[in-house]
Amino acid sequence: MPIQLAGNVKHGGLYETAFGISLDQLVNAIGGGTASGRPVKAVQVGGPLGAYIPPSQFDLPFDYDAYAAADALIGHGGIVVFDDSADMGAMARFAFQFCAAESCGKCTPCRIGSTRGVKLVDRIRGGGKPRPTRSKRCPRCTTPARPRSRAEDLQLLEDLCETMQLGSLCALGGFTPYPVRSALKHWPEDFER
Ligand code: SF4
Repeated sequence: MPIQLAGNVKHGGLYETAFGISLDQLVNAIGGGTASGRPVKAVQVGGPLGAYIPPSQFDLPFDYDAYAAADALIGHGGIVVFDDSADMGAMARFAFQFCAAESCGKCTPCRIGSTRGVKLVDRIRGGGKPRPTRSKRCPRCTTPARPRSRAEDLQLLEDLCETMQLGSLCALGGFTPYPVRSALKHWPEDFER
């Protein structure tokens, strides 16, 4: 399997390895750990829409079935290493941003969902605009909307990911939830306000 090791890694480059090799071997034995010398925080496997994997799962064998079982994907074999200074909430936002920039616009989950995702991550992290009142969104409605709670925004993020994964016409929109969900699952603290 051809592997591309990139990001914050000491010995980045192109390698050919056997399937079944662990991420620990790939990142630490072959890649030499981070170029910064700081601990590894995450690796993204499979390209810009691959899942982020924490060091606690570095025994994962490089194998299609094993990755699928771990809600991840091998994709084109790209591995990007991040040290412990990485902000995984920002990386989740970047996934939506990347999807919005690359979207061809043919289907709604990808075209609209990616843009909504950027705003939603901003709001969850406390950097976005507050939710507009109902009267502002619809001039005929006079009932002011209560602000959405953080738990409701997180549920909305999960619903958005599900809609994009199941409703997008191709892998761009369909795979965007991988980096978003994995970042939220493994580093929820990076989504705090
Ligand atoms: S998911 Fe694919 S087909 Fe749909 S808008 Fe995105 S790029 Fe186009």
